[in-house]
This record gives sequence, structure tokens and C-alpha cells, in this order.
Amino acid sequence: MNLKSVFVIFWICFFGGSAEAQDTLKIVNHLHDYQQQLKGNPNMQLVEIVKAIPSVKLDIRYATKNNFTGVAVYSQARAFARKPVVDALQKVQEELKKQGLGLKIFDGYRPYAVTVKFWKVTPPDKKAFVANPKAGSRHNRGCAVDLTLVDLKSGKALEMPTAYDSFSEAASPTYQNVTPLQKKNRDFLIKIMENHGFTVFKNEWWHYDFNGWEEFPLMDIAFEKL
Ligand SMILES: [Zn+2]
Repeated sequence: MNLKSVFVIFWICFFGGSAEAQDTLKIVNHLHDYQQQLKGNPNMQLVEIVKAIPSVKLDIRYATKNNFTGVAVYSQARAFARKPVVDALQKVQEELKKQGLGLKIFDGYRPYAVTVKFWKVTPPDKKAFVANPKAGSRHNRGCAVDLTLVDLKSGKALEMPTAYDSFSEAASPTYQNVTPLQKKNRDFLIKIMENHGFTVFKNEWWHYDFNGWEEFPLMDIAFEKL
């Protein structure tokens, strides 16, 4: 067992996880293991989104203090997702382009240690908005993306019911007390993502799970190593 594994188990035991979680939860935290999985299945590859789709905009809030934790939790402003997820995003981007629109990515693959940290710093009444480390997050599997729509020319985000990571009732994709423009933009985003194999999260209009995420393991490998 290397230092990293000890660290992960330490986090699970002392910060919100349970003793049984460390027995049942399988987390890929060695680069070698990830590379082995990649050899057996090329779909396992964590692809840097902007390298595959150069026209997407990035706003990686977790690499800045401008996020709900108030501190930078990523040391690099990068976004990754598994290969089939990025392939699907590429199709979404192509379709949006015809209407002068594009995607802006807030977050993709998130190392498991960051999910543990989020759980720890989130107050009890807001825990519905963050993943419980006992099960891990679909972001930890490289199969969830947080995103919104932008005007391709200006780069300006389209108006949505709430800001990103607004832990409020209005962030629900079915929240009704919104302006007609906010509703139109939100529902359009949800529809185009659903058409390409994603499901919107019930509490957050910006969070999309890739259908089939169960086939991808949880990971705790830093961006720097990918
Ligand atoms: Zn998310």
C-alpha cells in the first residue's frame, strides 16, 4: 500500500465515510492500474475535452477561489472525461454550432479525494447538491460534466435560472418559477444533452451524467498525471 492509498482510506475513515466504505468501494488510484484498464478497453481513456473539441469554452471554477468552497481545489484548470463521453459532447457541440451556440464546461472528471473534501465542507442542509463519498460521484468515474450554453461569437453564457453551483431550489431542472427565456435556454440544453446520451441531475440543471456510467470505475488520479 502506497502513501496515496493510505491517504484515501484516512479520508474515508475520518471525514464522512464509514468503515465499510473502504471495504466495498473500489477506487483506481494508481496510474499503472489506469493504464492497464486502458489497454483492455480504449473507452476508459480520460480525454482532455478541449483537446478533442477546441471550440468549447472552459470555466474551471474549482481551479479558482470562485466556487462554493472558497478555495482552489484543483491545481490545474483542466477538464477531462472518458472517451465516449467526449465523443458525445463533440456531437452536441456540432449541433449547437449550427445555431451559433457552444458549450462552456465548468467541470468534468473529478478525483475522488476532491469529492471527499466537498462532502466535508458542505453544510448538512446542502448535502443533496454534493455526492456522498460512500458511493463516490459520477464525476469520479469521468462520466459527469457540469456545463452551460454560450454564444459562440461573444463567448457570453446564455441566461439560465441560476448561476453554476447555486445550491438552491431554483437549480432543479424542473423548477417552474423562472422567466420564459431562462426556461427556454434550460430546457433546450437539457433536450440536446438527452438526445446525445446524457441525463440531467434532478437538483442541478448544469450537471449531466453519461448513460452507462456504471461501467466506469471511480478514480483518484490527479490531473497532472493524466
Ligand atoms: Zn456535477
